[in-house]
Amino acid sequence: MSLLKQLPPQPKSKRQKGSSSSSLPCFDDFGKSLQQLSHHSASLKNHITTQLLKIIKKDKKRNKLAYDEKEEKEKERKKNKNKKKKKKKLHLVLDLDHTLIQSKVVRNLPMEEKYLLEEADSRLDLWICSYDSCCEFMIKLRPFVHEFLLEANKLFTMHVYTMSSSSYAKTVLKLIDPDKVYFGDRVITREASPYYKTLDLVKADKRRVVIVDDTVDVWPYHQRNLLQITRYKYFRDAGTMSESYAEAKKDESRRKGSLAYVLKFLKHVHKRFEEELDCKDLRPLIPDPCTQCCF
Ligand SMILES: [Mg+2]
Repeated sequence: MSLLKQLPPQPKSKRQKGSSSSSLPCFDDFGKSLQQLSHHSASLKNHITTQLLKIIKKDKKRNKLAYDEKEEKEKERKKNKNKKKKKKKLHLVLDLDHTLIQSKVVRNLPMEEKYLLEEADSRLDLWICSYDSCCEFMIKLRPFVHEFLLEANKLFTMHVYTMSSSSYAKTVLKLIDPDKVYFGDRVITREASPYYKTLDLVKADKRRVVIVDDTVDVWPYHQRNLLQITRYKYFRDAGTMSESYAEAKKDESRRKGSLAYVLKFLKHVHKRFEEELDCKDLRPLIPDPCTQCCF
C-alpha cells in the first residue's frame, strides 16, 4: 500500500464547488442584502420625499395663510384710515365776488376799460353776461382760479356762499363750474341769507370748515374759521382813484397771487389736520382774523 492511500481524505475546498463567485452562499446573502438595502433605500427615499413634499406643502399653506392674514390686516388698516379720513373730511366755503371773480355792469365801465368789450369774446377769463333780463355785466376771473378749484377740490368739500342773488350765482357758476364738479348744489345765496353769512346754513361740522372771503364783517359769528383774502379788483371801483388792473392792462400774478397763497395755506392746514389723527377742530390752525395778514 502506498503511503498516499493511507492518508485521511482532505476536506474539499468550498471554492471548488462552483465555477463563479456569485454562486457562493456568502455572496448570495450579500447580494440579497444589497437588494434589500437598495429596496429599503428606495422606500426611504420615497418616504423622505413624501414627507418633504408634505412639509413644503404645509409650509406653503402656512406662508399663504400668513400672507393672507397680513394682506387682510393691511386691507383693514387702509379701510380704517380711509374711514378716519372720510370722517375728517374738511369743508371749504368760498365767496364769489372779489374772491374768485369780479364783475361790473357794462354801462359803468370807464372809457379806459371799454377796450375790454372787444376782448371779451377772445379771452378765456372774461365774459359779458346778463341774467333775469338784467343789464349786461362783465365777469372777470381771478388769475389762478381754475388751478385753485382743481387742487382745493382734492382736499375739501367745497361750497359757495354769496350775498348776491341765486340767478347771479347760477350765471357765474355756469362759467367756473359748468358740470357742477366742484360745488354740486352746495350754493347759498342772499335769498337764504340776506343779512349776514352763517355756517348754520352749511351742512358741515363747524370745526372742520375753512371760509375764504374778502370781507370779514359778513361773518360775525364764525371769524375763527375765516381766512381773509385780498380783495380782487380788476375793474376800477367807484370812488377809487388808483389805476385798475384793466386800465393798466395787467393783472394779479398767477403763481404769486392771493389764490396761490391761500391754496398753499389750505394745503398746510389740511396736512396738519390729517397728521394729528385726534385733531377734531381745525380752527386753532387758522390765524386770528385780527392778527392775520390778508392773503
Ligand atoms: Mg366778496
